[in-house]
This record gives sequence, C-alpha cells and structure tokens, in this order.
Amino acid sequence: SETFESRPFEADVSRLLHMMVHSVYSDRDVFLRELISNAADACEKLRYEAITRPELLGDEPGLAITLSADPEAGTLTIADNGIGMSRDEMIEALGTIARSGTRSFIDRIAVAEGQGSGKEGAQLIGQFGVGFYSAFMVAAKVDVVSRRAGSDEAWLWSSDGKGEFSVAPVVLDEAPARGTRVVLHLADDAKTYAERWTLERIVKEQSGHVPVPIRFIEKPGAEAAALSDGAALWTRAKSEITAQEYTDFYRSVAGQYDDPALTVHFRAEGRHEYTALAFVPGARPFDLFDADRKGRIKLYVKRVFITDDAELLPRYLRFVRGLVDSADLPLNVSREMIQDSPLLGAIRKGVTSRVLSDLARLAEQDAEAFGKVWENFGAVIKEGLYEDFERREQLLNLARFKTTASGEGTRSLKEYVAGLKENQTAIYTIAGDDAARIANSPHLEGFRARGIEVLLLADPVDAFWVASGLDYEGKPFRSVTQGSADLGLIPLLDKDAPPSVEASSEVSALITEMKDLLGAEVADVRASDRLTDSAVCLVAGEKGPDRQYERFLAASGR
Ligand code: ADP
Ligand code: MG
Repeated sequence: SETFESRPFEADVSRLLHMMVHSVYSDRDVFLRELISNAADACEKLRYEAITRPELLGDEPGLAITLSADPEAGTLTIADNGIGMSRDEMIEALGTIARSGTRSFIDRIAVAEGQGSGKEGAQLIGQFGVGFYSAFMVAAKVDVVSRRAGSDEAWLWSSDGKGEFSVAPVVLDEAPARGTRVVLHLADDAKTYAERWTLERIVKEQSGHVPVPIRFIEKPGAEAAALSDGAALWTRAKSEITAQEYTDFYRSVAGQYDDPALTVHFRAEGRHEYTALAFVPGARPFDLFDADRKGRIKLYVKRVFITDDAELLPRYLRFVRGLVDSADLPLNVSREMIQDSPLLGAIRKGVTSRVLSDLARLAEQDAEAFGKVWENFGAVIKEGLYEDFERREQLLNLARFKTTASGEGTRSLKEYVAGLKENQTAIYTIAGDDAARIANSPHLEGFRARGIEVLLLADPVDAFWVASGLDYEGKPFRSVTQGSADLGLIPLLDKDAPPSVEASSEVSALITEMKDLLGAEVADVRASDRLTDSAVCLVAGEKGPDRQYERFLAASGR
C-alpha cells in the first residue's frame, strides 16, 4: 500500500549491518553513546529552529533524553523530544549511509576483507563510531517511532537488520508528542543493557557531558531519575575538569573513540567574548582526505548549537574537532549571515592562532607526542604552507621531515638550518612517492659526498608548497633534481677524493656528442658535481617545474 512498505537497505548498509550483527568487537557499550549522541543532536537542532519558530516547542519547552528499560520484555528505549524525523527523512537517514566517515569505514572494510583480514573491521568499530547502525550490535530488532516537531504525522521505522526495513504510519496516541523513540529489542546475549547498573555505568562513562540532560526510568511505571544534568562542560573552569572528562567529551563531540593528542580550551575576553574547546585527535579520522575538506568545529551561541558548517578553522586544520561558544553573536542570526560576519573572522583568527601555538608548545615539551600528531596530520597541515601565507613561518616551524640524516626519526627546519654546511645557501629537497626509494636516488650522491642534508618529501602536497617559492630563515627551498646543483663551493667530506667534474677536453667532447645524439629530447647536457658513483641523471630546468611536480600535474590531468 502507499503507507506501509518494506524496502531493501542500500547495499552498503546491508554489509555494515552484517558486520554489526556478527561483530566480535567486545566493547558493545559504544552503541549507547551513538544513540544518545543522535538524541542530543536532535534536541540541539530543535533548540536552534525554535529560535525563529518558538511554537515548535509547544507546551514542552524542556529538552531531554530519556532512557527507559523493561527488563521483563528485554527492551531498552532511547527517547528524545528533539526535532524528530518525517517519513522521508527516516528513509533517507536510516536506510542509506549519509555520513562520509561511515562511507570511508565501509571502504576500509572492503580493503581489509580483500586482504583476507576480516578482523580489522571489528577493531575499527571500536575506534570510530559508525552511528545509528551500531544498535544492531545489541538488538535483534530496532523500532524507531518519530514525529517531527510541528507535524501531525508519526512514523514507525522497523528492521531486524537483515537486509530490509519497513516504514508505516503510527497513530498519534502511540507516538511521542515530539521527537524520536528508538526501541531496542535486545538480543539474548545483550539483556544486560536493560539493567540499571549497566546503563548508569555507561552513561557516566561515555555521555556525562552531552549538553542535554539524560533521565532514566528503571522499569515501566517507575519514576524518572537524573543520570546527567546536561551542563555544558566547556563553561566550567579548566582547573575543575579532569583529563578523563575531556576525553569523554572529545569522544562524544568527535564521534571517535581514541584519546585526544592535544586539548585546547580557553576563554577569550575583551573585544570578543567566546570559549573554545578543541581537540587534536590521537588517530586519523577516516575522512581526513575527503574532497569537501569540511572542518568539524561546532558553533554555539550562548550554549545553543547553531551550526557545524561555519568553517571556524582553516581547511588545513580540518582534523581538529570541538566547538566555539560565542557570547557576542545574536541568537537569531541566520547561518548565512554567520558566514560573513566579521566577528566570526576574528574568532577564526583567534582559535587558529591558539591551536597552532599550542601545537608548537607540544612540539617543544613532548617531541614524541608531537611526532605522532605530525605523522597523522602533517600532510594536511602542510597545505597551509601555500594556503595561509600569513602563518607560513609558524607552519614551517611545526613541520617535521624525513631527511637523508634523520634515520628513523624526523628533523625540524631549525635543526636543518643549524647543520648547514659552509657555503650552503639553500635547503635541498627531493620529492617522490616513497621516502625510502627517493633516499636511494643518484641525484643525492654529490650531496652525500659533501655531508649535505636533503629533505625527503613523499607527500603529494609537498610538490605544491615547494613550488610556491617560500624560504626559511632566508634560505630558499631547492630541489636536487632541478637546475645546476652549485655544489662546487662546498667541500667534499673525503678530502682525497678526486673532484667529480674535470673540465677536460674529453668531457666537453663527450657532452657535444651526447647533445647531438639526444637532440631536442633534452634542453641541455652538463657536467655536474651532483654525482659521485652514477654516470648520468636527469634533472629539470632551472626555471621550470621540479620533476616530481611535473609528474604530479600529469597525474592530476592538468
Ligand atoms: P550521524 O549522527 O553522524 O549523522 P547516524 O548514523 O548516527 O549518523 O545517524 C544518521 C541520521 O539519522 C542522523 O544524521 C539523523 O538525521 C538521523 N537520526 C538518527 N537518530 C535520530 C534522532 N534521535 N532524532 C532525529 N534524527 C535522528
Ligand atoms: Mg550519530
């Protein structure tokens, strides 16, 4: 009929569900955090919409999340009186994979399965939330009843997670007055999730800082007890917040399950008043290199969630998670107006500076921890070298490189410059796809023989910033594969070695012959002090693009 229908899940959802059901991942508790975070999101969306349409709140202005258990029936219900979903929204949100993180998760699983390691998936579930579908880790069947705020229709979405879901209308008497009720029919081995102690423990552990109060009803007919007051963590003084509380909050705001590598929490006072709480993740999110490269800093105004689309950090810091709560923006500001607001520009500047300076401090105080951050996100931060000229200096100071002298570790440019050889006027680089491979390039022979350190650049982004003509402490970056190497003035380490270039008549004769032979294939043939063991190598011209950059342009079809 028109109103009741069964539909197959999108293929990827079916695969994800299959994984959930057969998951060997032991920490199934995470499903509750996902469902509570969805409920909180729904409440925050309503809080925002109600700024311009207060009637949406009706006679139920208080927003809350209510967990209710029925140990006898073996069910757990997560209810919210937030924005709710229409029929179409339900089909779209719960029948397809909308969020990019989950999409990349699926791709990673496919790769892991292709390599015959099905276990990886189970571990990944634990590291990253995969949203609503994690309910099927504990439930044999899930019913979602929802009524969108202001609507006089309610709908039931139902599935056993085996390939199909159904959608049917519900009479209003059986639906929440507003919002969503997710009913989990717990699987036989998951009945503990209908017990008070289990639920209390998990909420305290995982969701104590969700900015919406959480209540608990132990069994049908029992009174509701408060589990969490919904006070916003970021409004509390730094000194009163424990590392564990920060971690819990990070996990709920980032949807990741790792520990933050860096926590930046500060209140700006004076011309603009705002609070920022931002985290650098301890692990790479799935969607780090996504094409749309959206930031993930939420904007609040006086504790009301406004948008997560405000681009509060530059794109090269898009891996940072967290929020900014402004005291100055008007609550009823539209999302479009926010984008262009000068106030937002000031906030963006302030938060960016603080994140970068806190990263610099981490680099100074805990090189190992910073090394991990750089390993995870350095390739993204380096985009800033050509996107944010104002902060080049700062970014170059953060940058760490594999070099011909770094061994297993990395080197900073400060260290590089401190080790410059006599008469060395440039910072030498070599770019390629693989640091180990380029380290063996014949182009490096002459540099090795003189003890000159060369940066091994193996990230695709390196080709870009190296080509953008910047320098560090007055020393330009120069590719060893480009132009003449000018190494003549720098002494060889082995004083007894013969000079590599002998301007003999034999050499000039050879060069003339080679030029004849190669004709228009090459621009020039030159004797060079770049090589010690190899006979010849190809280099790019003085002015043109570096060879790796040429390859990069060719590969991207430019
Ligand atoms: P995410 O929360 O990252 O978007 P989820 O898989 O957790 O991904 O949820 C998918 C979508 O389902 C949400 O974006 C939202 O549109 C919808 N949704 C889930 N739970 C609720 C709820 N309690 N109220 C309203 N919408 C919900
Ligand atoms: Mg979610």
